[in-house]
Amino acid sequence: MASSSTSVPSDASIAATSAELFLARHDRVRAVLRARGVDALIVGHLPNITYLSGFSGSAGLVVLTLDRLYLLVDFRYSAAVNRAARAGALAPELAAIQVNGSYDRRLVAFLAEHRWTRIGFEARHLSVARHDWLRRSLNAAQGATAAEWVAVDDAVEQARLRKDVHEIALFREAARRLSGVATSVVRDVVHVGRSEIEIAADIDWRLRHAGFAKPAFDTIVAAGPNGALPHAVPTARPVASGDLVVLDFGGVYGGYCVDLTRTVAIGHVSSEQRRLFDAVAEAHAAAVTAAGATGATTGAVDDAARDTLRTHGLDAYFGHGTGHGLGLEVHEAPRLTKRSADYPGDTRLDPGMVFTIEPGAYVEGVGGVRIEDDVLVTPQGCELLTDAPRGWREILM
Ligand code: ZN
Ligand code: ZN
Repeated sequence: MASSSTSVPSDASIAATSAELFLARHDRVRAVLRARGVDALIVGHLPNITYLSGFSGSAGLVVLTLDRLYLLVDFRYSAAVNRAARAGALAPELAAIQVNGSYDRRLVAFLAEHRWTRIGFEARHLSVARHDWLRRSLNAAQGATAAEWVAVDDAVEQARLRKDVHEIALFREAARRLSGVATSVVRDVVHVGRSEIEIAADIDWRLRHAGFAKPAFDTIVAAGPNGALPHAVPTARPVASGDLVVLDFGGVYGGYCVDLTRTVAIGHVSSEQRRLFDAVAEAHAAAVTAAGATGATTGAVDDAARDTLRTHGLDAYFGHGTGHGLGLEVHEAPRLTKRSADYPGDTRLDPGMVFTIEPGAYVEGVGGVRIEDDVLVTPQGCELLTDAPRGWREILM
């Protein structure tokens, strides 16, 4: 997800990423390059480019070597790069390379100049066609000294898993702002007769006014029967008495994504709807507690939510994971989902990880409930970053 903004947060209390932090990020990725015997890693995934270089644009390439960081950008971004460099927002060792025309042709010429023998690439983010073209073109340019291409997956994603002090400061500020938006949304925005689309538009407006550059994803407002769909799209249906309304929204602040869900009741709802809410609230609390336990794992957090819902006979109605990592992307590592053969859930929760806890239950004919907050793992346990009222709330008009 590319951000078109190159600005650093305007909030003066949050300094630009320091040189030491960038170097620490590079060190973590370089350890992978050394282990894989790779001379240079081509990074094309935009959030990874931002993480390593400080540059955020809609196009660009980074080449990270054991001692340098090259940023290839086209003329549209040259001024932005210069401005960011003057503001101290770029990695200290960055060398900017101007691209005139095709990025891939420039990359091949650049690689041919340097004659690295083992070139790493992000297989998860590079199409087969593009990989083939780059390899063939570089072979043609280098002749007999063809380089070896090495798939290096998740090297940057793994480095991004534990947030540094700069990122944590941004998260705290973003979560504080999102909590303010959530409080006002629950209090002022949802009324009988307003459509889901109107409510979603109002939420988006409030996100912008709270200083978010944009929503982190398409805002979800799902009332009554639509609430039974976890990823419902807002409709023109007016909210009516007897509805449960799921409100799921987030924003991008300083490049970082935060994400929150609240569920409210309209008018007097049934005892079955209330029971659904109470069970999900209990699952949410159990998952937060589990995330704060010593030696906690991603699977243990999901177990806590799922087991709680099972005691209420609702685990079959919880069809998604308990949470997902947050950062430059709204869904990133770690994943907190139901354990399976492919997903043992044994990733340990380490200080610096930021993720959501968002159990839900979706029952046809009753409606949906989801409660979502963002948490930070600290050496002491688990800190709730978002903090807006999450208890039962009935809106009477
Ligand atoms: Zn959400
Ligand atoms: Zn989420």
